[in-house]
Amino acid sequence: MILGNLCTRGCGFCSVPKSRRPLPLDSDEPANVARQALAMGLRYVVITSVNRDDLPDGGSEHFAKTVREVHAAIPGVTVEVLTPDFQGEWTAVARVLDAAPDVFNHNVETVPRLYRAVRPQADYPQSLRVLSFAKRHRPERLTKSGAMLGLGETVEEVHQLLRDLKDAAVDIVTLGQYLQPARRNLRVAEYILPARFDAYRDYGMSLGFRMVFSGPLVRSSYMADSVHGQALA
Ligand code: SF4
Repeated sequence: MILGNLCTRGCGFCSVPKSRRPLPLDSDEPANVARQALAMGLRYVVITSVNRDDLPDGGSEHFAKTVREVHAAIPGVTVEVLTPDFQGEWTAVARVLDAAPDVFNHNVETVPRLYRAVRPQADYPQSLRVLSFAKRHRPERLTKSGAMLGLGETVEEVHQLLRDLKDAAVDIVTLGQYLQPARRNLRVAEYILPARFDAYRDYGMSLGFRMVFSGPLVRSSYMADSVHGQALA
């Protein structure tokens, strides 16, 4: 996770510490991430970040640099980025995409009715537009998004979410059970049975996604290498 350890947003499900004035960026971070990934022998690297609404470019140049450094350090590596919405700034989204990550992931996280509690500073249609723009800007790259279930959403709302992601030309979807990370975070409204996760996967696959990874333990980066391989296959 890059761009520091303090986030300018306050999502109800997330335990990352918040600050309106996070520390300045560490200019050595892109090279350090690449060096560490190389030292760990990684062949598939997922780069994510906190939100940095305080920065004019949302941290997009730092993101792009990190992708380029990892590609340069590890020939043949696959890089997946899990990005913020960059407040819908297309130049920032394009900057990250032009660094040539293999997978562009941006999570919608939940259904629009629950955004006020779950992602109060985000906007569901804007996140869909970010995903749709990513596919139009770099059609050869895979796009990916995901949501947490068990926050109070209905079956029909999840079906609509899947149709929305399909309309945004998303290739890969992840669905997993929300778990409350700390006392101050949102409570779990429901534990979804594995059979319902399977039904969501089947419904999603019937819509034509390349891959729908759906199960209680699924997270957006869980088994990302294998999910990527299956999506390509
Ligand atoms: S933007 Fe990301 S890191 Fe920040 S609070 Fe929301 S989920 Fe957590």
